[in-house]
Amino acid sequence: MEVGVRRVKDAWLFDGEATHYGDILLHPHGGWSKSKGHEDVIEEIDGKNKFFTRSLQNWHTHLPMTLNRGMGEGLDLMSWLNNSIFPTERKITRDLVQIGTEAAVSELISTGTTFACDMYHFPDKIGPVLAQSGIRGVVCGPTTKWPPDGGEDEDLSTMRELEYLLSAGPIGNGRVEYGVATHAVYTCSEEVLMRGSDLARQYDATLHIHTSETRDEVANCHNENGMYPVEYLDSLGYFTGRTVCAHCGWVTKKEMGILASHGAICVHCPTSNQKLACGGTMSYPAMTASGADVRLGTDGAASNNSLDLRKEAKAASLIQRHDHWDATILDPIETWNLATKGSKDWVSWDLNDIRMRPFGRQGRRLLANLIYSDAKCQDVFVDGANIRKDGVTLTLDDQKIGARLEEAAVRYYEDV
Ligand SMILES: [Zn+2]
Repeated sequence: MEVGVRRVKDAWLFDGEATHYGDILLHPHGGWSKSKGHEDVIEEIDGKNKFFTRSLQNWHTHLPMTLNRGMGEGLDLMSWLNNSIFPTERKITRDLVQIGTEAAVSELISTGTTFACDMYHFPDKIGPVLAQSGIRGVVCGPTTKWPPDGGEDEDLSTMRELEYLLSAGPIGNGRVEYGVATHAVYTCSEEVLMRGSDLARQYDATLHIHTSETRDEVANCHNENGMYPVEYLDSLGYFTGRTVCAHCGWVTKKEMGILASHGAICVHCPTSNQKLACGGTMSYPAMTASGADVRLGTDGAASNNSLDLRKEAKAASLIQRHDHWDATILDPIETWNLATKGSKDWVSWDLNDIRMRPFGRQGRRLLANLIYSDAKCQDVFVDGANIRKDGVTLTLDDQKIGARLEEAAVRYYEDV
């Protein structure tokens, strides 16, 4: 795909601080500038009725779980895992993982997301889908066969497969990396946790874990170890400089300090927490006050049920204001910057959509409309390449992927 400078005529653009209007140049490696009208460009884009923003970044996913979307409704986390998800997942295959991932990536692109930090089995089938689609990702795979509690014969072949992927390095022109997943303190032994941590350290790879998602997890960890999950992980020497902790819903101030001291990325997943009735979610004001690096994630399609991170941005803003009785928390600018933190890519949203109107003077209402009301994603640019154009994804066949997911789901569940 062509990489170069593009000129967008008559467009609205939000760049992290303010909304601009006019002729805009999108540079191939992520920058933008105002056009003077005479630059050498590879493409002119009609920006009328388009609102350009940074792309969304989804920091906690289980991409293949589009296969599980809509199952196990009405269950709390532990019943959902033990009665719905885990028994089904014992039948997961490499082929199913690929089909589920294709569906997930199709959804990510069509909703304006260009990065996912994933955790699932068979990472060798997930990474190539991300690479071929043109988006970015960190694909974290386990070091044990499923289940990770050693219930099945432990021949270390899963660990060796992951090590092979890590040693081979990034794929997709460097946009897709592999990482290490250790599911949670309640599913991984100390040995499995530290084996994952050591492997991540050896390859300077991302280390991904669920932490303090429920009160039960926190209470059980304290009963068993005399410490809360983040304290316990710290006592083992688990944290590397690149740890991603999903949820952090029930953490103490001391644990927030530990997370901040390790530079851990702490992923707020408000929809999943509410849907599984966790009874609480991350305290965004306390976490940011402690210096922790907070990002947003949808979690898997089984517990959300959407991978649309724009909806997660709305959920985050609403639950934080509600929980803290403070309408000033996560205003539209802060919310959007949280949801797109670190993005080097661009997306555009359809201003013909009535939900985006009125724009307000100088486009002042655009961002609030986008977060709270909705809009269709029109274009996606990653690393200078146009992977979605005027509402159609160019790198994937959405229709075929949808049909394959449907057929695969029937196969996956036939005897569940
Ligand atoms: Zn998760």
